[in-house]
Amino acid sequence: MKKLLNGIVEFRKNTQPEYREKFAKLALGQSPDTLFVACSDSRVVPNVFASTDPGDLFVVRNVGNLIPLCGEGGHSTADESEAAALEFALLKLDVSHIVICGHSECGAMHAIHHGREKVGPPNLRSWLRHGDSRKKVDLINSLGLDPVNFRSQTNVLEQLEHLKSYPFLAERIAQNRTKVHGWWFELKTANVYAYEEAEKRFILIDEEEAQRIRERLS
Ligand SMILES: [Zn+2]
Repeated sequence: MKKLLNGIVEFRKNTQPEYREKFAKLALGQSPDTLFVACSDSRVVPNVFASTDPGDLFVVRNVGNLIPLCGEGGHSTADESEAAALEFALLKLDVSHIVICGHSECGAMHAIHHGREKVGPPNLRSWLRHGDSRKKVDLINSLGLDPVNFRSQTNVLEQLEHLKSYPFLAERIAQNRTKVHGWWFELKTANVYAYEEAEKRFILIDEEEAQRIRERLS
């Protein structure tokens, strides 16, 4: 907390003047092009590893970067938080991209891998069911990851499928109005990988891969 307070004072002194114009403009409205779904883990910092600025990303963060499935009548099968964010980002802000970003050393994936039923706190145990479908996913473990880290990659693919259970979103994806991306952040290297469907594996986002993704999008 001390660091947070020092950070605010520091920001006011040194950085705020540079950002004044930007924030004054952003106060009039936001138009991010990406909805970014990441884990609450303190070590996952999209604004650092993707060099984003205020206004760039609409963000949902929760334990395990999970999107509960859509149920009857377009209602989420869990609480409304994630579904409301999807609706707002897609139907109000009209974002073009959704990124589900998993990460290595994820506590949620560790808990799921070792048996969700062993998790003590009741809300946490219940919440993790959204990442525990145990559906077989067609993915190659090209990085030679241990089972927990590989689980966090397969979870990204599962959550991409969960997105498609929302009819309004499935429609937009089919119309190519919204593109979904599976990313994975590796803590020890601070590298970000992108899921390449044609190769059934995650590939390091370096200059070459970034170009490949850009070309596909244009
Ligand atoms: Zn996590």
